[in-house]
Amino acid sequence: MLYSILFLKCPQCRQGKFLEAHPYKLSKMNKVKDHCPKCNLNYHIEPSFYTGSMYVSYGVGIAIAVAVFMLSIIFNIELGPKELLISIIVALIITMPYIGAVSKAIWAHLFIKYKPEIAKKVPNDKRT
Ligand SMILES: [Zn+2]
Repeated sequence: MLYSILFLKCPQCRQGKFLEAHPYKLSKMNKVKDHCPKCNLNYHIEPSFYTGSMYVSYGVGIAIAVAVFMLSIIFNIELGPKELLISIIVALIITMPYIGAVSKAIWAHLFIKYKPEIAKKVPNDKRT
């Protein structure tokens, strides 16, 4: 499941792509596909289904801020409060497209169940 979220796969078959394009392709930023290309699952269960994912992105953002703080401790980098804040902001800006994408993936995975029997029907050579 974690793999499927991190690599932005379909929540149902965990093989089809979840987004129209790479999260860093800004023109199509985090646009979720209409259907799974592999199992044909409708990604848009209801209108504005992905609005709720902003709560998730808030949590992911905090997790990244904590991660930056932990890394500065692990690598023994002495950061003042100001430097730490700047590092966190820079990290958040860099990861923002990915945070948005992952949040939508987490959100979809919360509501759509993995169905192994559907995943088995997808031919292996068609995996992306
Ligand atoms: Zn699928």
